Amino acid sequence: MGFRDMFLMNLGMLISVAYLANIAYKYLFNRTSSKVKYVSSVVLMILAGWICMRFGFRLSDNVIFDLRFVPLLISTVVYSQPWTIMIIGIGIGLVRLTFGVNEAALAGLYNLALLGVICAGLNIWMRRSTVRLVVKATITILVVNIFNTVNVSIFGVIPFKKYMLELAPLLFPLGVILSALFAVMLRDFQLEQKRKLELEYTNDLLKKQTEELQRTKIKLEERANQLLMASQYKSEFLANMSHELRTPLNSILNLAQIIKESEPAHEEDENPSYGAIIHKSGEELLQLINDILDLSKVEAGRLEIVIDEVSIREIAEVMELQFQHLAQQKGLDFEIRFDQDLPESIQSDSLRLQQVLRNLIANAFKFTEAGKVKLEIRKERGNGQDPGQWIVFAVTDTGIGIPEDKHSLVFEAFQQSDGSISRKYGGTGLGLSISRDLAALLGGCIRLQSKQGVGSTFSLYLPVNYEAEREGRFP
Ligand code: ADP
Repeated sequence: MGFRDMFLMNLGMLISVAYLANIAYKYLFNRTSSKVKYVSSVVLMILAGWICMRFGFRLSDNVIFDLRFVPLLISTVVYSQPWTIMIIGIGIGLVRLTFGVNEAALAGLYNLALLGVICAGLNIWMRRSTVRLVVKATITILVVNIFNTVNVSIFGVIPFKKYMLELAPLLFPLGVILSALFAVMLRDFQLEQKRKLELEYTNDLLKKQTEELQRTKIKLEERANQLLMASQYKSEFLANMSHELRTPLNSILNLAQIIKESEPAHEEDENPSYGAIIHKSGEELLQLINDILDLSKVEAGRLEIVIDEVSIREIAEVMELQFQHLAQQKGLDFEIRFDQDLPESIQSDSLRLQQVLRNLIANAFKFTEAGKVKLEIRKERGNGQDPGQWIVFAVTDTGIGIPEDKHSLVFEAFQQSDGSISRKYGGTGLGLSISRDLAALLGGCIRLQSKQGVGSTFSLYLPVNYEAEREGRFP
């Protein structure tokens, strides 16, 4: 076997050892303690050195040429403790003696022990220096190869001149090239290992986060269920309570009506006027109870609607009749306008539709001191999210208006646009909330346009065909 074959053979053996070590690490040492891992890796490095010698080029019976310094070179990059590198250097030197104790073997021992010390120094420098890894690796490879050549020429059994002139010119470049090749492979292996570790870490992290998310999701679901139940109990309680309150209240109202209409027994008899006060307050209370009853019924999903053909003209007439008197009383115009191509009727719940309109128109009158209130009924073709045909009942007034930032607030239960409203205009802040829920129940919605001090327009959108809208079929 010539030099070249020896180098290739050594390189092949080193690659095989590295590959086997990788497998052993993966399947055998992966779960062992760090101490066991450390000791086995040191033994492996020394063994790799021994294998290089075993398949080295035998110049004579005692003289062996090989790449035994390559495992030491690798150790310089891999380990962080300099004394480990020294142990490996001395270890490889000592195993040289297993091929026979003679002058050449002892020279090999000195050489490797010395290289161990040099590599330990290089290891310290590599960890402290801030130059790029490629530069560090190149310098280390060159230094180790130079020292190896010098050591062998000094301690070796081959005369200095012969070695330097005949052997070194071939051995040195080959040594450098093959060490560099091995260094590249090692670096690649290291990067792969690093990537694997990073992947494992990210995987673990993801697993933990998924578990955490799962736990939070379960907790949230539990909370949501509890909240739903609590809200349902509350709504049911309110619905039952309001219902129960109405019966005695109706009796009080009837009695108050009788007292109010009775003839005064004498001139100072104030009973009829007391009766009138009780009757008025009772009616307000009944209205409040009715509102709460409606709201809680909608929330508990217990409010049922009856869908039928509803004549648009009839609805408008009912509204006109109901509010004509109030308009005159307040000195306001009340105008009702119809679009030209309106259908005769729509599919809806007449009573609930009237309730919403009554609410919107009553509010318009309540919050308007001068000007007019207008009910405009028109047809609109929806687009985007709400295709299909819609009938819009737009109630416009020239009243106090609502500030922009309160537009969504006024639809919340018990909310008014500001604190003075209740004192000045009365009311409880329930009307719009009920109207919004009823509009949704009828398959529509309420939109608000308003400017403070100018007026407001509340538009009730209802589908022309309730069933088709609900099933997603758009006429
Ligand atoms: P209420 O009228 O009993 O206070 P609503 O829910 O019907 O309750 O209305 C909530 C609030 O919305 C009112 O208190 C008022 O501040 C505001 N609002 C409603 N309609 C109008 C309107 N047409 N013009 C001005 N503000 C209005």
